[in-house]
Amino acid sequence: MEREIWETKGKSLVVGKLPTGCQLCIDGKKMVLFITGLCTAKCFYCPLSEKRRWKDVIYANERKITKIEEAIEEAKIMKAEGTGITGGDPLIVLPRTIKAIKLLKNEFGEEHHIHLYTNAIHLTREKAIKMKKAGLDELRIHPIRTRDIYKVAIGKKAKLTTGIEIPAIPGREEEIKRMLKKLEKLKADFININELEFSSTNALNLKMRGLKLKDGSITAVEGSEEEAIRILEWAAKNTNLNVHYCPSRLKDQVQLKNRLKRRALQIALKHEKITDEGLIIKGIIEVKEKISLNDVYNKILNKYKLSEEEIIINKSKRRIETSIETAVKIAKDKKLNKILNIFIIEEYPTDQRLEVTRTPLSK
Ligand code: SF4
Repeated sequence: MEREIWETKGKSLVVGKLPTGCQLCIDGKKMVLFITGLCTAKCFYCPLSEKRRWKDVIYANERKITKIEEAIEEAKIMKAEGTGITGGDPLIVLPRTIKAIKLLKNEFGEEHHIHLYTNAIHLTREKAIKMKKAGLDELRIHPIRTRDIYKVAIGKKAKLTTGIEIPAIPGREEEIKRMLKKLEKLKADFININELEFSSTNALNLKMRGLKLKDGSITAVEGSEEEAIRILEWAAKNTNLNVHYCPSRLKDQVQLKNRLKRRALQIALKHEKITDEGLIIKGIIEVKEKISLNDVYNKILNKYKLSEEEIIINKSKRRIETSIETAVKIAKDKKLNKILNIFIIEEYPTDQRLEVTRTPLSK
């Protein structure tokens, strides 16, 4: 009997049940713990950035860290309800991965849902059991070699919810359908199909294989979404599997936005506002050369009768920060204008607070 295809609130498509890890991810409630960039697979479509690809670096969300304990801090800042451990291949640094799983479960309790991605090249029964014992909930295998598909059985035996996650590479439809039939026999809990995406590091490889950018998108590969939907429709008729198609727009427009908003809500200071995109917007005041930042700060504080919460000195960026309304007022002050550069800026609510836009107010 043909099953129904339904749409999630993130506008991804599902036949059957949506994996728990994906539910929390769509809501932006999961921290992304990039545990290492090391990986032996070297896929031609690997999207990792130059900074991460095949390097032993750790990131908790966008924050580069050196100790796993710092990931706990990041999870607290964004009030994470779960964590997705990714890489690279987390199994290459198994002791680190186990430590992270244990720390997260100890700190946030059993209900903190943890899923982990691996290409399964290095997956063994012992490793799966170790991860389960540490507290792992869900295993997502991204099989590079056909034989690794069968490792779903290893995850299931270790009592981990186990599924497969693959990109929809145009031209591989029949191969993927055959894989789905095998997965049904293996009783895989789910299969996630992602829209294939261009990144700065894989663009040349994708182009060499004749793949093109989809019209109107800056990352999605032409034909990938159509192929994924055909597979989903086929799976609805021919299998009992839980299949989820995750479009690239979900990552940027829903998952990332929700995660940024969550972090912004926790870190925004009184003078900062949060935009619909999850960015922080505020006024900044830069002082022209040789004038003391403290003197200008005190002058503005007194002249506009502001509280110390309404205006602050950002020492590391050598500037004064305030609300948009105050910045607009100060920009109208001809005397101050001569010695100041005033802007409205938008920045990511990440550790580095990367600036995205800067609009000048002063002349
Ligand atoms: S398995 Fe993942 S991290 Fe490793 S090369 Fe392939 S896409 Fe990149």
